[in-house]
Amino acid sequence: LVERMRAFGTTIFTEMSALAVRTGSINLGQGFPDTDGPQEMLDAVARSGPANQYPPLYGIPALRTAITDHDRRFWGLDRDPDGEVVVTAGATEAVAAAILGLCEPGDEVVCFEPYYDSYAASITLAGAVRRPVTLRPEKDGYRFDEGELRAAFGPRTRMVLLNSPHNPTGKVFTRAELSLIAELCQEHDVYAVTDEVYEHLVFSDAAERHTPLATLPGMDERTLRISSAGKTFSCTGWKVGWATGPAALVSTVARVKQFLTFVNAGPLQPAVAVALGLPDGYFTEFRAGLQARRDRLVAGLTEAGFDVLRSEGTYFVTADITPLSGKDGADFCRELPGRCGVVAVPTQVFYDHQEAGRHLIRFAFCKREEVINEAAQRLTKLG
Ligand code: PMP
Ligand code: GLN
Repeated sequence: LVERMRAFGTTIFTEMSALAVRTGSINLGQGFPDTDGPQEMLDAVARSGPANQYPPLYGIPALRTAITDHDRRFWGLDRDPDGEVVVTAGATEAVAAAILGLCEPGDEVVCFEPYYDSYAASITLAGAVRRPVTLRPEKDGYRFDEGELRAAFGPRTRMVLLNSPHNPTGKVFTRAELSLIAELCQEHDVYAVTDEVYEHLVFSDAAERHTPLATLPGMDERTLRISSAGKTFSCTGWKVGWATGPAALVSTVARVKQFLTFVNAGPLQPAVAVALGLPDGYFTEFRAGLQARRDRLVAGLTEAGFDVLRSEGTYFVTADITPLSGKDGADFCRELPGRCGVVAVPTQVFYDHQEAGRHLIRFAFCKREEVINEAAQRLTKLG
């Protein structure tokens, strides 16, 4: 194994899902739903016929058009399906290809910690350097320090990599926060790469709706917006993602993608096109159902004695283990299955400054109501 990858072992999701299987625990660790996505989408796969050869590099026209139509309908974005969209093997490949295609060795990527684990690996594979700005839990949610963000930018900054709605915290970046990020991107003339896989999963009690960074003044021409079907349509195993933005940025992703996977998910692309065209009701009902399960889990965690942090979106909620005499989230999560038959994920593994997240763990609520209820019941044993 090359030197630069040695720090990266098995992902925490693989480790914790294996622990769930081994101990027969309820898996609230890895974020994947336990129900299928919309029937129209599943029917479309069954119907899709012989789509078994390589699709075009940029994705099939029907999917590219569905993506740009979707982005116009929900976000008022206006992209050309020919040249300003590329379909990727999940958001993960889009993020990796963007970093590999845009960063020279030594270039810096400003991101927020805790960060999604693939970011660190992709930045490292590119020989680039991450400049994490810490999100700190406060009463009304996670916040970052403006001075810390300003200080993270410098002459070697190549891009900001922003995930909002944010995994693992459930934070939805506010317009004011996004404006500051936008101002700094323009002042330092850097790109923004946005991971918006949870774009539809913002709950009704969030302080603000989701705003794509690309819609802020001056950001359209420097933002590569990434999303995926996995979360919105409960099909995380399909790995159908995409990147949209100015043609030069999109072609950079495509250039790299050619040699990572070339193309992907031929038989699934027509079905994702169908899903993206579903009426608004699908998106609002899915979100409302998820919000109810968040509420149920938050109530259970609170009753069990955790200090639960505010989650405004995504599949996830984080909790402080200090009131339960926990000190280290990784130890706590390794012991949790034995104590009560539930699996969670320690968030410290998503930080460079691990101390900042040592006392925090993450639970996924994208599970059936009866599963959440059973988990909540089991967690009461912790007291
Ligand atoms: N980004 C974030 C923030 C995620 O939470 C996930 C899913 N776990 C991904 C990217 C990966 O998305 P995909 O499965 O489409 O590659
Ligand atoms: N994104 C999912 C999560 O955060 C897991 C993805 C993975 O296993 N790599 O739980």
